Amino acid sequence: MRVLVLGAGQLARMMSLAGAPLNLSITAFDVESGKIVHPLTQAHIGDGLENAIAQADVVTAEFEHIPQHVLEVCENSGKFLPGQDAILIGGDRRIEKALLDKAQVKNANYHVIKSKADFHSAIENVGLPMVLKTALGGYDGKGQWRLKDRNDAELIWHEMEACLADSKQAIVAEQFVPFDREVSLVGARNAKGEVAVYPLTENVHTDGVLSLSTPIDDSLLQDKARTMFTAVAETMNYVGVLAIEFFDLDGELLVNELAPRVHNSGHWTQQGAETCQFENHLRAVCGLPLGSTTLVRPTCMINVLGEDTLPDALLALEGCHIHWYGKQKRDGRKMGHINVSAEYSADLDRKLALLANILDKKAFPAMQRFSQE
Ligand code: AMP
Repeated sequence: MRVLVLGAGQLARMMSLAGAPLNLSITAFDVESGKIVHPLTQAHIGDGLENAIAQADVVTAEFEHIPQHVLEVCENSGKFLPGQDAILIGGDRRIEKALLDKAQVKNANYHVIKSKADFHSAIENVGLPMVLKTALGGYDGKGQWRLKDRNDAELIWHEMEACLADSKQAIVAEQFVPFDREVSLVGARNAKGEVAVYPLTENVHTDGVLSLSTPIDDSLLQDKARTMFTAVAETMNYVGVLAIEFFDLDGELLVNELAPRVHNSGHWTQQGAETCQFENHLRAVCGLPLGSTTLVRPTCMINVLGEDTLPDALLALEGCHIHWYGKQKRDGRKMGHINVSAEYSADLDRKLALLANILDKKAFPAMQRFSQE
């Protein structure tokens, strides 16, 4: 089968690698250039979205910030999964919050701001401290403000007002959640309504960007997350891999955000799960049976940010795998990731301690938690 992916980044690349053994052939639509490219080489292999859609059996997406006209053309083809509505939910925090309420899953209290009067109502209704997020376009902590003290409201309002000059934009004010940790659940749902979720993953962020993801073994929390995942996926009539990010507050889960696609916090599944998230996404959208999401060995994923080389010694470490994305180096850019696996948890900790000593301390600050030096 032929699958066209909207977006030509690392997620399309890893779908291509995972699809090849199943004879699933992936082409990518580079939304910025409007070109059809090979997801591994970025070679230009065609023009025209309509042509590419006509040649594909299935259309899917690797990100949610896609222009409306592109979404409409894909939706009208009848081949688009998880479909326009799911992508719009992932790309607009207002729609996302409304969906979470409809699915009756817990999330942080919020108030939508379009005007200064709304901002004052938000301060009254949501309370301080609060987190303010642009409804459109923000990710990895970008397009966000924190308000702790009423005296700072005027200052923040000036910045938000500039954003709101775009009539499509809004700000979603959210109650600040004093979470213990951030976790996410990645799972797949197929057209028959079958759901398969991976183990809940604990995520560590540095400056708002994911740096480490590790599956955790907590059956109570896993059950709660699975129930919330199923409610959300059913409400969306979702087909494909979906990721839900949660705040864990004393064993209670609150949804932070949804990603209607394969997700960075699911990259560990390439070495740690029976079937990786990329293959399961393709299986779901191509109408194939879902693969087992069972953890086969404890694995930690380490993001490589802004670096395009790593010490060769990494490859000598048993269970250590490097996944480069073939991108030009830029400060802070996601360039690749490392998956490190072991037979059991204590051995994984031992390997992470070895890695912490091999990796550059400035480039991998989150690894210092494992260092035994
Ligand atoms: P987001 O882009 O919504 O995932 O936010 C980026 C990061 O900001 C999250 O990973 C959290 O660490 C933090 N954050 C977002 N929303 C809240 C909130 N309501 N309360 C506390 N921290 C938050």
